[in-house]
Amino acid sequence: MHIVKSEQLMPTLLIVGGGLFGSQAAAYARRNGIEALVFDAAMTGAASPASAGLFKEEWAGKKLCEHFHYALPVLDLLYGVGQISLRRDDDSRESLLFVPPRLILEPSPIRELVTSVGDGWIEAGGRRHEGWVYVAAGVWCEQFLAGIGVYGKAGASFAFQGEREGRTRQLTRSRQAVAFVRDPGTTYFSDGAAEREYTQEHDQQTLNRAAEMGLTNPIERYCGYRPYTPGGPLFHKLASRTWLATGGRKMGTILGASYARRLVEKELR
Ligand SMILES: Cc1cc2nc3c(=O)[nH]c(=O)nc-3n(C[C@H](O)[C@H](O)[C@H](O)COP(=O)(O)OP(=O)(O)OC[C@H]3O[C@@H](n4cnc5c(N)ncnc54)[C@H](O)[C@@H]3O)c2cc1C
Repeated sequence: MHIVKSEQLMPTLLIVGGGLFGSQAAAYARRNGIEALVFDAAMTGAASPASAGLFKEEWAGKKLCEHFHYALPVLDLLYGVGQISLRRDDDSRESLLFVPPRLILEPSPIRELVTSVGDGWIEAGGRRHEGWVYVAAGVWCEQFLAGIGVYGKAGASFAFQGEREGRTRQLTRSRQAVAFVRDPGTTYFSDGAAEREYTQEHDQQTLNRAAEMGLTNPIERYCGYRPYTPGGPLFHKLASRTWLATGGRKMGTILGASYARRLVEKELR
C-alpha cells in the first residue's frame, strides 16, 4: 500500500494582494512550512509602499492593543523589530518601533490580476489555482466580499535625497509628521494626511510641512489608500478554505502581522 505523508497533502496558500497584509501572511506561512504564492496586480494607490513602517503600543490604544501584543513576536521573528528615535521641536525625543516596508513586501509576486475567488480556488491570468485562499486586497477587497464597506483614506509620503536626522512634529492629537531614514541614502517624510477626497492641495500641504523641516525637491512620491472598514479592522472566513482580511488603516504593520498569525496558527489546521 502506498502511504502519502500528511505534509504532501498540505494545500498551497494562494494570497490575493502583496501589501503588508498579504506579504506577512506569505512569510509567516512559509516559516511554518506552508507553501505560499502571492498574486499582486500592482494597483495604483496600493497603501503599503507609502507606509513609514512605524508603530507603537500607544497608537494601538485599548481597541487594538491585543493585536499589538499578538503581532510583535511575529514581526520580530520574521524581520526583527527596530527602534527609531525622533527629535521633537523642543529637543525632547520620541522612540518608535520600526519595520521597513521594503523588508516585508513580497519581492517578486506573480503580477496577475485575480479576477475571481471561491471556496479554495482563485482565477488569475485565465487560469484556475486551487489551495487555501487569503484575500488581502486592501481597498479592493469589496469585489470579493460585497457589503463590507471598505473605503480608502489617501495620503502621500515623499523621499528626499540624503540621510537627515530623525524628526517629529505633533500636528493634532492623533496626527504627527515624521522625517527619518526609512530607506538607506534617503529621508522619508509623511504628515499622516488621510483624506477620502484627496486633492493636489493636500499634496502641497504635505510638501510645505516637509519644507518646514528643511526637506525640499523630493525624489520620490508615494500615494496610497489606507483601507478602512466600518466597525474596525476585518478578518473574515468567507468559506471553508477562503479567508479575507483588510482595514489596516494607519496600523497596517501590526494588523497585517496579527492577522497573519491568526490565519496560520488558528485557521490553516
Ligand atoms: C502615507 C502613508 C503612511 C503610512 N504609515 C504607516 C505606518 O507608519 N505604520 C503602519 O503600520 N501603517 C502605515 N500606513 C498604513 C498602511 O500602509 C496600510 O494599513 C497597509 O499598507 C494596508 O495593507 P494592505 O496589504 O491591506 O493593502 P495594500 O497595501 O493596498 O495592498 C493590497 C494589494 O492588493 C493588490 N490587489 C488588489 N486587488 C487585486 C487583485 N484583484 N488581484 C491581484 N492583486 C490585487 C494591490 O495591487 C495591492 O498591492 C501608512 C499608509 C500611508 C498611505
